[in-house]
Amino acid sequence: MTKGILFATHNEGKMREIRAILADLGLPVQSLKEAGIHADIVEDGTTFAENAMIKAKAIHEMAPDVIVLADDSGLEVDFLDKAPGVYSARWMGEDTSYEVKNQALIDRLEGVEGSERSARFVCSIAAVFPDGTTAETFGTMEGEIAHKPSGNGGFGYDPIFWLPDHGCTSADLPAGGKNAISHRGMALRKVKPMIQEWLEKKQQ
Ligand code: IMP
Repeated sequence: MTKGILFATHNEGKMREIRAILADLGLPVQSLKEAGIHADIVEDGTTFAENAMIKAKAIHEMAPDVIVLADDSGLEVDFLDKAPGVYSARWMGEDTSYEVKNQALIDRLEGVEGSERSARFVCSIAAVFPDGTTAETFGTMEGEIAHKPSGNGGFGYDPIFWLPDHGCTSADLPAGGKNAISHRGMALRKVKPMIQEWLEKKQQ
């Protein structure tokens, strides 16, 4: 029996969402910190999918007995040619607060109205199983860049991610509400049956 799932992130905001979505698999889900793994992985891929697989494979080398999942996610703003994209975490510097980053995005869209403010969160998930087999999934959440930040939920760019169908930002949604419609929720729900299938095959 596999010892569980190791999710290759240090981001507590992501871990909260991931644990809630994977809870019914009945496997323990650990973060890198909880597993005592410190890894400085160079994410030099050019796509979200490449970066997710780079992370998952690097952690699999360090923890070969567990199912390793990694995600690479980010915000694409259409008016800014899909920036910050794969650089979402590093955009304006890793240590710059999201208050500053979010305001900077709002400022860059000054005078831009309506559907021209379109943006999406995207998420690629990569899985590496203990036998070395891999799987990958993808999810998106469409929205717009808000005119001002709002909400205390979520993390990162959530306070400026306006969801026209909900009339609020993704930071205004309750946790379960965001998971139900989010890019990460979508990608994780797609990877769940792949994990179940791998576990079933292993038991045969
Ligand atoms: P990663 O850890 O390399 O995947 O970087 C993801 C970055 O994209 C995060 O640090 C956030 O800046 C942004 N991001 C990804 N998903 C979300 C989300 O659900 N809400 C807000 N920001 C997000």
